Amino acid sequence: MSGTSTNGRARRLTVHQDAQAMIDRAGELGITTVWDRLAAQQPQCGYCALGLSCRNCAMGPCRVDPFGEGPQKGVCGADADVIVARNLGRTIAAGSSSHSDHGRDILETFGHLAHAETSGYRIADEEKLRRIATEVGVVTEGRTAEEVAGDLADVLQEDYGSRRGSLSFIGRAPAVRRAKWEKLGITPRGVDRENVEMLHRTHMGVDNDYVNTLLHGLRTGLADGWGGSMIATELSDVMFGTPQPVVSEVNLGVLKTDQVNIAMHGHNPLLSDVICAAAQDPELLELARSYGATGINIVGLCCTGNEMLMRRGVPMAGNHLMQELALVTGALEAMVVDYQCIMPSIVDVSKCYHTKIISTSDKAKFTGATHISFDPEHGAEVAHQIVRMAVEAYPDRNPERVRIPGQPVQMMGGFSVEAILGALGGTPKPLVDAIAAGTIRGAVAVVGCNNPKLPQDLEHIELTRRLIENDVLVLVTGCAAVANGKSGHMVPEAAAMAGPGLRSVCQALGIPPVLHVGSCVDNSRILVLLAALADFLGVDIDQLPVAGAAPEWYSEKAVAIGAYVVASGVTTVLGVQPAVFGSPNVVNLLADGLDGVVGAKFVVEPDPAKAALFIRRHIEAKRQGLGLPFVPADELAIDDGESATVPVASGVGS
Ligand code: SF4
Ligand code: SF4
Repeated sequence: MSGTSTNGRARRLTVHQDAQAMIDRAGELGITTVWDRLAAQQPQCGYCALGLSCRNCAMGPCRVDPFGEGPQKGVCGADADVIVARNLGRTIAAGSSSHSDHGRDILETFGHLAHAETSGYRIADEEKLRRIATEVGVVTEGRTAEEVAGDLADVLQEDYGSRRGSLSFIGRAPAVRRAKWEKLGITPRGVDRENVEMLHRTHMGVDNDYVNTLLHGLRTGLADGWGGSMIATELSDVMFGTPQPVVSEVNLGVLKTDQVNIAMHGHNPLLSDVICAAAQDPELLELARSYGATGINIVGLCCTGNEMLMRRGVPMAGNHLMQELALVTGALEAMVVDYQCIMPSIVDVSKCYHTKIISTSDKAKFTGATHISFDPEHGAEVAHQIVRMAVEAYPDRNPERVRIPGQPVQMMGGFSVEAILGALGGTPKPLVDAIAAGTIRGAVAVVGCNNPKLPQDLEHIELTRRLIENDVLVLVTGCAAVANGKSGHMVPEAAAMAGPGLRSVCQALGIPPVLHVGSCVDNSRILVLLAALADFLGVDIDQLPVAGAAPEWYSEKAVAIGAYVVASGVTTVLGVQPAVFGSPNVVNLLADGLDGVVGAKFVVEPDPAKAALFIRRHIEAKRQGLGLPFVPADELAIDDGESATVPVASGVGS
């Protein structure tokens, strides 16, 4: 293994002191990390970066010359527009499939739970179960929770197929928005159907009209947001509890020198929930004590971590780019993974330590890892086996190699739609009133990943800080939530960082100016909240003073999220350039043409200062459209352009 980390280099790669310390440590030990591999990949393929390469058939691979000198068409005759649109369509389908297959796993377990065929699961929120069941037409009166759950599972299973013609939760969107989708022919008919149709359309010789392909891309995204992701979120709430505000901690300081540390990494709460329960088993705690540990410490990474933090207040070790660095602490007995965003490299890094990598999903195996097949029918038993394996690894830990950097930072999570409306007294009216009065100018969802092409978390933190300073309420999910938690934005005291209007609202309600809404599938909660606000005002979502941002996105899932957010009427700013710039026509459609049909568009802006300025102007324009007091665009400027390049404090002591 090779590693060339220096402290100066580490500071350029990440804003966080815990990450810097571990990058340096990896360099000392010669452990290769994601940043080393990114450097080794330079220069990355320019054709691929522009979306201009195609390997959809064996007549290729083909590429189109962006300078107009070389080939302008693939062997089949596809031009830049068709190739770029097809590539983007397939990316959306991959992301939508990932979220939706996660949703299907939850749904299948939920169905088994209804028929008493699981171990370790229960219906935690019966009120929400009955509410959802009534919404989709399942009779609830005089029936047991299990009977209702069985019928609800059957109804939602049909959302995945093509028998119904629309999705169960699509009725949550404002009628005017649904009418737009209907007119455009992009109402999602079935989750799997739209994904499969995208693969069909992008086969050679099928959909050769880039506009038609990309409209189906929106429909594919909508099947994720209002379908697969929403099913995942809603049923997770029913099975594991609807999140309520909870205080927890974040950064690598959540690891304990004197306890068995188990990091849960991936996305699906099916596994992590039963692992949390097993970690409290007196027999396993006694076993841990017999080896000299004082307890069993479960921590989260990525969206599994968000699921556990939102519902159980489990501490969060870090986001996407922290997964290798968590291993470099030398303090993990096990990293237990399910699927999505899990770098294959963790197996290599773990070999430098006693840490066991335990894969659990039969659809996500890792060569070199220990695989324990997770089966919800035996959830409690499998969780017990996994925790026991971690405990038994504790005596193999070498205390001299342990480096746990710094102290954890407090953060608050648990802001489900139910919790937000609860804090507002059960109705969106106080939030609407605050927006109407201008106390809060609007709201922005800052979501998505880390990408090693950018300094880790800098864009998340800088964009969010600029928004809250300007009285814009920020909702966060996924890795963006972890970034903001580490920066100290997600405790009630952070109201002091907000502008005077937002500060007064946060202080009155005792909430942070940055609200943790959940994991990546929980972006569906934001759709529900936006629909509730739009319905309350009697407008469409695209009229609201809101925006989305994915400052550091990397994954195909993020592209699917972008597709459904924009198709739902929310203009979204991307901090990383998507692979579309090989086709000016596709760029024009995404950055302009879409605005005319769905009332929202994509913007690419890597500078958080400029992104914040764009969003503030966008919000004021929407306020003007609603007849609310607004600030003209030319009166808004970047208030502190220099700080975009200055690393911010992570709140972590080293
Ligand atoms: S589908 Fe067309 S552009 Fe793509 S690899 Fe085949 S021949 Fe080339
Ligand atoms: S935000 Fe992105 S990197 Fe983070 S868990 Fe979600 S998809 Fe993965």
